[in-house]
Amino acid sequence: MPYRVLLYYQFAEVPAPKALADAQLLQCQELGLRGRIIIASEGINGTVSGPAAACQSHMEALGAVFPGIEFKIDEVEGHTFKGLSVKVRDEIITMGIPLGTPVHQKTGRHLSPEEWREAIQQDDVVLLDGRNDYESELGHFEGALLPPLESFRDFPAWILAHREQLEGKRILTYCTGGIRCEKLSAWMLQEGFEEVYQLDGGIVRYGKETDGAGFVGMNVVFDDRVLVPPTPAHEPITHCRECGAKSANYVNCANVLCNRRMILCPGCEEFTSRCCSDECRNAPSLREKNAKLRA
Ligand SMILES: [Zn+2]
Ligand SMILES: [Zn+2]
Repeated sequence: MPYRVLLYYQFAEVPAPKALADAQLLQCQELGLRGRIIIASEGINGTVSGPAAACQSHMEALGAVFPGIEFKIDEVEGHTFKGLSVKVRDEIITMGIPLGTPVHQKTGRHLSPEEWREAIQQDDVVLLDGRNDYESELGHFEGALLPPLESFRDFPAWILAHREQLEGKRILTYCTGGIRCEKLSAWMLQEGFEEVYQLDGGIVRYGKETDGAGFVGMNVVFDDRVLVPPTPAHEPITHCRECGAKSANYVNCANVLCNRRMILCPGCEEFTSRCCSDECRNAPSLREKNAKLRA
């Protein structure tokens, strides 16, 4: 039986997040879906895996609650999540700053993948990667600003500190599946930036609908696949820290007290016991061998 993984979000007014979360949990359990769903008064953000028919039912049910919701669909071999979690939060993507106008009423202009492909070749644009540093290190649009940030919450401060690089330009924002740019571009408009655009459906949709031009490296996704080439032609741009071979195998040092993020090819991961140093190799606080980086 074919399996699928779905990635979706929709900003919309949700009058009763808790009731919707309860209903979603029940439905996903009945359908045998796994994954993570976040619901807030501002909308829904989810990614789930399951048999194709179950995914279809899930999409139809969500379509009834959120008209116009779009899904990114990948064929997979089996589940890409170990469990199911449905949570109610204050935000479906946490920026930590309340917006005066809800995202579903005002956000940056959406560019289709084809429009984006044209736009990134213009001279007067600045590309802004809306993801965290390890994601943009593994893959990004060439020439983009890659903020060295570990959390989406840090973006507003970084943008204000780099205002002169962005002001007066056409700003093109992109992220994995589009949700972070919805909020980031909404906030930037609120802050007085005038021309803010966002890649609709993010890198995931761009890779499905274009040849992926302008993007180099791998795309970090939110399920157990962790890294996916946006198109079959894309390959890693990063290198193993031990042997220098091309690799996008991002792991955390097995010493949980170190936890250093690093790229190790599978051979060196084995050889080093996934430790960054002898010190870490001999530390008492080694994690379980299969506990890799979670995106
Ligand atoms: Zn290596
Ligand atoms: Zn270490």
